[in-house]
Amino acid sequence: MSVPQSPVPPAAARAAGQQPQWPDPGEVTRVRERLAGLPPLVRPDDSDRLAALLGEVARGRAFLLQGGDCAEMIERATPAAVHGTVETLSRLAGTLERSFGLPVVTVGRLAGQYAKPRSSPLETVRGLTLPAYRGDAVNGVAFTEQDRTPDPRRMLRAYEAAATTLRLIADRPVPGPAARDVFVSHEALLMDYELPLAREDSRTRRAYAGSGHLLWAGERTREPDGAHIAFLSRIANPVAVKIGPGARPDDLLRLARLLNPGAVPGRLTFIVRTGAGAVRRVLPELVGAVAGAGVPVVWVCDPMHGNTVRVNGRKTRYFDDVYEEIAGFFEVHRSLGTHPGGVHLEMTGAEVTECLGGGSGAVWSAGVRPADLGSRYESACDPRLNRTQTLELGRLIAGLRTPSLVAAG
Ligand code: PEP
Ligand code: MN
Repeated sequence: MSVPQSPVPPAAARAAGQQPQWPDPGEVTRVRERLAGLPPLVRPDDSDRLAALLGEVARGRAFLLQGGDCAEMIERATPAAVHGTVETLSRLAGTLERSFGLPVVTVGRLAGQYAKPRSSPLETVRGLTLPAYRGDAVNGVAFTEQDRTPDPRRMLRAYEAAATTLRLIADRPVPGPAARDVFVSHEALLMDYELPLAREDSRTRRAYAGSGHLLWAGERTREPDGAHIAFLSRIANPVAVKIGPGARPDDLLRLARLLNPGAVPGRLTFIVRTGAGAVRRVLPELVGAVAGAGVPVVWVCDPMHGNTVRVNGRKTRYFDDVYEEIAGFFEVHRSLGTHPGGVHLEMTGAEVTECLGGGSGAVWSAGVRPADLGSRYESACDPRLNRTQTLELGRLIAGLRTPSLVAAG
């Protein structure tokens, strides 16, 4: 049987950053061939539909809500976990929709968020040094040699877990008459997974990622001449790039030219994650430069990744910092007359204790305190807002000034 060739040339001929050191290259080739013979997980026309909805966000006529785990775990592709996340996201979307009077485009960090960039390739605990956890598609989170050794067969298990997750999203129980559309997204990091799942659409002859509707490049892999940006530039799906506090206006203009040469509204989203302390200082110059160049982009606030701190030896984030970054993001856009297009959260439907605080308003819970961090810290990577914190944050965002219609038409 012949295997369909990925229509995306191995962008990857350029050295891609943040790839695993697979111990057995022959096994990687076999797994890639298997993936290339499997059906894509999502359909091109659904990716096109999301792109059109994001076009509405770019025009100021809709709002994007993106959220889910930092790192999905294969064993948590269960009804309880997936339905919990989707139900919490949907509720938050409903709150924002009612308060903003705009449609809310809902996108999970779901069905593909199985690969993580790491600041250090190794981790040392009590004198033992092992490869860092790089996501369930690469290795296991347990600090043992067996778990931490990269195993390419995990990419096939990640594919199956993604397929299960998509089925769970489609078949979820919904309270009302109609289920909200929930699209899926993840960081396009792992080239050995993304390239074999990219396919040419027979109708349009364009290449699409088959692994998710919306894919993004992370803050660590967004070099304009790197393999990840090359990959995103060649797929027809809507794409996004994470933007940290060190980004310069020229970096964004270059990314916009590479990823959205046709200036199509909705094609490109910038997910800005500066930290609460920097957003008011850093964001105006970036938004001003992009607006001045006439490139339509969707501006999204990720209030998580610039606000990570260590408390009691654990990675965490303060609820108040998360809210403060979003408030700053809305303020900057209001002052520039641009559209605060959306928010991007690390959250879950479970009552985990990973982020601190919350519970300040008329909420039953007293909030998560430092002493609580150990009781339900279940994230394989970064700390997530729990269900109560997510819904409380939603009420606070709803109280921010309604995004106005900007540059409509
Ligand atoms: C993430 O979204 O989990 C992540 C690693 O983000 P960033 O690339 O912004 O650091
Ligand atoms: Mn994260």
